[in-house]
Amino acid sequence: MEANMATNNLTTEAFRTIGGWLERPADPQPQLTGNVNADAIIVGGGFAGLNTALELRARGASVVLLERDFAGFGASGRNAGYLGGGLGLEYDMFAKRVGHEQATKIVGFYEAGVPYVEARLAASGIACDYIQSGIVRAAVHASQEGKLRKDMATGMSLGAPLQFLDHAAMRARGIPAAFLCGVYAAGGGTLDPGKYVLGLRRAALQAGVRIFENSGLQAYHEGKVITAHTAGGKATAPYMVLATNAYTPQLGLLGNKVTPLRVSAIETEPLRAKQLAALGWHGREGIMTPHWTMESFRLTARNTIVATTKQLNYVYGGGTPNVPDNDAYAALASGLRDRFPMLQDLGIRACWSGYVSLAYDALPVVGETGTHGNVLYSAGCSGHGVATQSLMGLLLAERVMGNEHPLLAALRHKTPSVLPEPLQWCAVKSALRITGLLDAITNHRARGAATQGVAP
Ligand SMILES: Cc1cc2nc3c(=O)[nH]c(=O)nc-3n(C[C@H](O)[C@H](O)[C@H](O)COP(=O)(O)OP(=O)(O)OC[C@H]3O[C@@H](n4cnc5c(N)ncnc54)[C@H](O)[C@@H]3O)c2cc1C
Repeated sequence: MEANMATNNLTTEAFRTIGGWLERPADPQPQLTGNVNADAIIVGGGFAGLNTALELRARGASVVLLERDFAGFGASGRNAGYLGGGLGLEYDMFAKRVGHEQATKIVGFYEAGVPYVEARLAASGIACDYIQSGIVRAAVHASQEGKLRKDMATGMSLGAPLQFLDHAAMRARGIPAAFLCGVYAAGGGTLDPGKYVLGLRRAALQAGVRIFENSGLQAYHEGKVITAHTAGGKATAPYMVLATNAYTPQLGLLGNKVTPLRVSAIETEPLRAKQLAALGWHGREGIMTPHWTMESFRLTARNTIVATTKQLNYVYGGGTPNVPDNDAYAALASGLRDRFPMLQDLGIRACWSGYVSLAYDALPVVGETGTHGNVLYSAGCSGHGVATQSLMGLLLAERVMGNEHPLLAALRHKTPSVLPEPLQWCAVKSALRITGLLDAITNHRARGAATQGVAP
């Protein structure tokens, strides 16, 4: 009989519409009715929106936060929980585009996100199982080592603090044997994103942020004062921050700048004590791979393994339906079997998907729009938003208060335009297909090497 990982009915038994980390809050916030007024309206209750709200309250501003579902519903409540800096960025891609000096500042922004979140957890008393383990980007086949070393050299030239772990160093750390060598970033680690985002929500409520849930922004009217309309009421303020990330194009903004991509995750049943001991992996480093579409694996506080990404998806027109992605879950289960052959009998307890947004240059998309420049937005950061979209809260709040933070200045650049449909659908689908084939070749070679018992 095939392994449990493969036979589990991932859709009906394990699919979670709100991800595997959290439940809907027991204290749902009211729907917006009537008229409310504030210094700033934040739209979207994820890492970006909640941190912006907290930073604004710390500066004495009154804040209304409008959330379409509940604060934590989006990618912030569904991600893998890697709190990382620049590791995993395609440094070459953007360094060529923006030049060495600005690329160095952009890497500085990514790196600054890690201590920002660490300070936020401490300041707001958020317990979210954070382990300061560092993160390894690890090869599963010898053919990936060259890319790792090249990316590391570029990253270090741009100021990213990285270190190469050879085969012996990986084994000394107890990192599972399928991961041959890697680039290690000592800063950051893994956390429970559900606990983090709900901790932010609680802190925001305690700080006096007026959160309205089930209160999606439907339309807004610009002017010196902005009026934001929901189904039940309206909010007015001199500033509005759209912290809606992958959902922003549905509001009629950034549709020509970012592409929403579906990212999926699966979580195993807890490992038994014996399995955990046999696995080693004492440092619990978050692991990601240098595939074209990365694989990532991490242990959780409940001793399960969460595996993410591996197979991305794009919905025609940039849609973000909250539906299962069975092909992606099957691909993730197969990746888990490849990298953890000793855990064949481990079941899958949950699978889910969420949406990130990607610019063609893979850089953050942050700025302002409107005739008065008082509609701010933050999107992009693709799969690296735990640190960056949190730090974005500081930059956006400062901007609302009239200050241009140096890191915001560093991020300003011309984002390339995306293609109109149906060209965009064809381009993204083709790119995903080609990268999928290239990754399949690497995986085939790694499997072959493993069955022959030679170092892959
Ligand atoms: C499966 C997965 C794994 C990932 N793993 C990692 C990782 O390990 N590390 C990492 O750094 N990043 C990771 N990411 C990316 C990271 O989660 C995101 O970059 C980050 O959470 C984005 O935060 P945000 O606040 O910008 O957006 P979101 O968290 O998506 O928040 C946007 C909010 O806006 C709300 N909204 C939408 N439309 C409206 C409207 N009209 N009115 C009001 N509200 C609205 C949504 O309901 C949502 O709550 C992952 C993402 C996914 C999906």
